[in-house]
Amino acid sequence: AETFPLPDQARVFTVANQKGGVGKTTTAVNLAAALAQSGARVLVIDLDPQGNASTALGVEHRSDTVSVYDVIINDVPMRDVVQRSPEFEGLDCIPATIHLAGAEIELVSMVAREQRLRSALETYIAESENPPHYVFIDCPPSLGLLTINAFVAAKEVLIPIQCEYYALEGLSQLLNNIKLIERHLNPELAVSTILLTMYDSRTNLAHQVVEEVREHFPDEVLDTLIPRSVRISEAPSYGQSVISYDLNSPGSLSYREAAAEIARRGVRKQEEN
Ligand code: ADP
Ligand code: MG
Repeated sequence: AETFPLPDQARVFTVANQKGGVGKTTTAVNLAAALAQSGARVLVIDLDPQGNASTALGVEHRSDTVSVYDVIINDVPMRDVVQRSPEFEGLDCIPATIHLAGAEIELVSMVAREQRLRSALETYIAESENPPHYVFIDCPPSLGLLTINAFVAAKEVLIPIQCEYYALEGLSQLLNNIKLIERHLNPELAVSTILLTMYDSRTNLAHQVVEEVREHFPDEVLDTLIPRSVRISEAPSYGQSVISYDLNSPGSLSYREAAAEIARRGVRKQEEN
């Protein structure tokens, strides 16, 4: 496998878009797998009660599995919850179970309710002998307290945008929310990466969406486009990323190229500072 440059410090991404079905989970899991395949240590935090990222990474998340719910609500350390993905060396996951659905309401009355994931992750990284190079937090399709916890825990936001009708609808609301978090809760937060997904080169509409997004976000959009691909959508039912499910398929190649871009950009930023 091609090796990518590694960051000096853990890069923590929140993968967010309040719309469902735009490719958040698919992006989190496949970028994580691609980076792990290239030699990075990667942690995926599943913050969606649906547990789709846990499923796709092939980790246990039955209702009695100790999970991210216990981390956020019961102060269980992440090191007691983390599971290895069977797929690649260095690919770990904090799973989500159905209990997480209740966390949104339980959090409301808790002290420091926006900071709980951040504190847990900081402790995990500080105490880890081999801390992750990358952390991807997979968010539910809402802007509730779980997503706020993700924004407070991260420095970078990665927004997947589906090359479809209404692609940009709701985006300004998302960006406003990110600004509010930056102002009040996490001054280091920034949208670093936008990834165009489910691209179908045969449609004019897809071209138009790509052009429009590149015009609005010239610095954030990756050059790589993720094609619409059956292999990508099949992989999760085998508990796999597309990287191991079908390494040389176009979907796998595109996620590996996107991961390489993210790695190179990070090192460029690091050198600028
Ligand atoms: P979200 O997490 O934003 O709800 P998902 O990542 O679960 O979105 O994707 C929604 C659906 O689209 C899933 O069934 C997934 O397998 C499928 N999908 C995601 N990306 C692609 C793609 N590039 N090509 C084909 N299907 C895709
Ligand atoms: Mg999802």
